[in-house]
Amino acid sequence: MTSPLDAVVIGSGPNGLAAAVELARNGASVLVLEAAETVGGGTRTAEVTLPGFHHDVCSAAHPLGILSPYFSTLPLAEHGLIWIQPPASIAHPLDGEPAVMLGASLDATAAALGPDAAAYRRLIGPLLHHPRELIQEVLGPAHLPRHPLVLARFGVPALLPASALGRSWFRGERARALLAGCAAHSILPLTRPVSAAVGMLFLFSAHVEAWPVARDGSHTITGALGGYLRSLGGRIETARPVRSLADIPAARVHLYDTSPAQLASIAAPMLPGGYVRRLRRFRYGPGIFKIDWALDGPIPWSDPTCLDSATVHVGGTLDEIAASEASVWRGEHPDRPFVIVVQPSLFDPTRAPEGKHTGWAYCHVPSGSTVDMTDAVERQVERFAPGFRDLIAARHVMRTADLERYNANYVGGAITGGVTDLGQLFTRPVMRASPYTTPNPRVFICSASTPPGGGVHGMCGYHAARSALRRLPRIPV
Ligand SMILES: Cc1cc2nc3c(=O)[nH]c(=O)nc-3n(C[C@H](O)[C@H](O)[C@H](O)COP(=O)(O)OP(=O)(O)OC[C@H]3O[C@@H](n4cnc5c(N)ncnc54)[C@H](O)[C@@H]3O)c2cc1C
Repeated sequence: MTSPLDAVVIGSGPNGLAAAVELARNGASVLVLEAAETVGGGTRTAEVTLPGFHHDVCSAAHPLGILSPYFSTLPLAEHGLIWIQPPASIAHPLDGEPAVMLGASLDATAAALGPDAAAYRRLIGPLLHHPRELIQEVLGPAHLPRHPLVLARFGVPALLPASALGRSWFRGERARALLAGCAAHSILPLTRPVSAAVGMLFLFSAHVEAWPVARDGSHTITGALGGYLRSLGGRIETARPVRSLADIPAARVHLYDTSPAQLASIAAPMLPGGYVRRLRRFRYGPGIFKIDWALDGPIPWSDPTCLDSATVHVGGTLDEIAASEASVWRGEHPDRPFVIVVQPSLFDPTRAPEGKHTGWAYCHVPSGSTVDMTDAVERQVERFAPGFRDLIAARHVMRTADLERYNANYVGGAITGGVTDLGQLFTRPVMRASPYTTPNPRVFICSASTPPGGGVHGMCGYHAARSALRRLPRIPV
């Protein structure tokens, strides 16, 4: 290579590739360096159990992918991304009564919530008047809102702890459980302020687009981003771990799709000591314990309507889910963990041999946990699907250390880029007017450790690339 590149992106997760695409779309020369043998970060798909069973190693259900304001501007379908949308977004089984189903219809979902039908419509209905505007407001850094009224309708209840919102807004266990399951994706204690935000976002999102899986597996999401990047002239090199600045070819700017810890260690010579120390104080939060199953049949839910959704929230009532999440934050391993189950092969026949199925699940555990949660997770599924264990042909588990070995961004097994409480929600990784920038105008961070945080939506990468594009004209070659 004779002339320096405009940009090198370190890491090819959905945010790294989104950043690279946005830079390349605007005429920049871009190289992506990926440590692993394949692109994808948290979106890879692999045969980790038996031949013919294709498991999503990390992300599986994509409410924020299908709604991503940035992805919706890209020709990802032309590069192989096909979303498959089940009839319902979430099934939430409860003991001895029908499962709560979060479907596309607000009225049908509300009607099944018994005494809380009207309350559910009052909470979520107003958000659906301007859904795309709300998504734009929420999936980005702190800013002066363009749609303040739309944001206020969301933001006031969203600032509450999920358990307080559930207990004060709803009277029945069904609505409370549905909210708690969605809020638990935040990986916050449900008694903590803003834990309701993720819950409300996920409830609302399901009435805009049913939560999809990607046909052939989540790897097609970053496969499509990578394909489009190459069509724009961008380059990707895999098996290229960046351990120090010496591993990065000459470029005007560097964008890190990495944890703040890695940015601190790799770019330390380019950054002031105070900033590096603040990066090192970043909080990652709890980890997860992940299981993939090869199954001899569909999961035998007691309530078969659970087969209408790819995603199933297994954990019972709000009180149970809140107790499970609280114990993880105390450093304990819940006996009855809240488990997120995804059953993609029900809707995507490419995932398993005919008549067979794949199952995907995780529960939260303390950071760095070494405990095997297989029995606890499978007991929870068996509780709502008797006979489930008899269908397990093979399983593959990942503890926190396996996750961190798989992807250095998963510090202590944390999967969403770091704690999303009030202290880190908009100011991650360090409080700055633009959190994607650093004190060095050549260095940016674009991973899920920046706003809006975890999930496969590419919005961190997009916003980081926009910051870099604003700076590029002033940065000498
Ligand atoms: C088990 C699990 C389940 C999940 N489920 C969902 C889900 O269902 N839906 C959802 O939306 N999200 C889910 N997520 C979260 C989602 O995968 C992440 O939030 C998202 O992938 C973050 O994207 P990213 O680009 O910031 O980083 P990553 O996807 O983590 O990608 C970072 C990439 O950078 C590479 N890299 C890191 N350091 C270096 C280095 N020094 N040199 C070179 N390369 C480097 C890594 O190898 C990796 O490929 C899940 C995550 C996990 C682990």
